[in-house]
Amino acid sequence: MQINKNLHVLHITADLGGHPFSFRLPVLVNEDQIMLVDSGLPGGWPLIKEELVADGLGEKELVGIILTHQDFDHIGGVAAILNDYPEALVIALDEEVSYLNGEQPFVKLTPERMQTLPAAFQDKFGRANDNVTKIVSDGDTMTFGRTWQFVATPGHTPGHMSLYDAQDKLLITGDALRIDGDKLTPPAPQNTPDYPTAIDSVAKLAELPIENVIAYHDGMLQGSEFNAEMLQMVRNYLAEGL
Ligand SMILES: [Zn+2]
Repeated sequence: MQINKNLHVLHITADLGGHPFSFRLPVLVNEDQIMLVDSGLPGGWPLIKEELVADGLGEKELVGIILTHQDFDHIGGVAAILNDYPEALVIALDEEVSYLNGEQPFVKLTPERMQTLPAAFQDKFGRANDNVTKIVSDGDTMTFGRTWQFVATPGHTPGHMSLYDAQDKLLITGDALRIDGDKLTPPAPQNTPDYPTAIDSVAKLAELPIENVIAYHDGMLQGSEFNAEMLQMVRNYLAEGL
């Protein structure tokens, strides 16, 4: 679906161990070039390619993959995408690079689980590799169609980041926030190892004027109450915990 001249969002429903697994993949558009924000599940690139074609983006050159964080449903497509577009940049936040480059183990993906994933994925992420080719820091901006700000939102993983477009007051959350039906919701406790830090990140995001939200899990919303809702999430957590 086209959001504006410089942003599409693909609604992908993949298969995860026999269950439907649905997510929203933002695609940044700059004339004839595109960048993906995250890359889907291991083995999932053909499905994303189909959706790019269906959205009229099939002829564009893929020049970058921005990884919000290290979880396998976000980095799973990288190896296959680079096979098709070897020159594409892989962009991540400084705090996440050592995990993505195999210098330290993933926070959640265990070696046992890794063994169950496709060989191309294991080859890319199962050992030390310079997987990240462009490192960004909190507050850095990148002009690609629009000007995107990289916002460090740790907690779900140590180097998790979100993306923000001030022009449209639009936030791409990654997994720092979720959307459940028509509601913005806090990060998922069961896979957010450092929850207090994740809540600090919600408080940080609440300082940005936000009227459009795209959450990988799993939706898009427009409205004027997001900042108040996010501050309420923070207050709820501080008062009641999880
Ligand atoms: Zn995720």
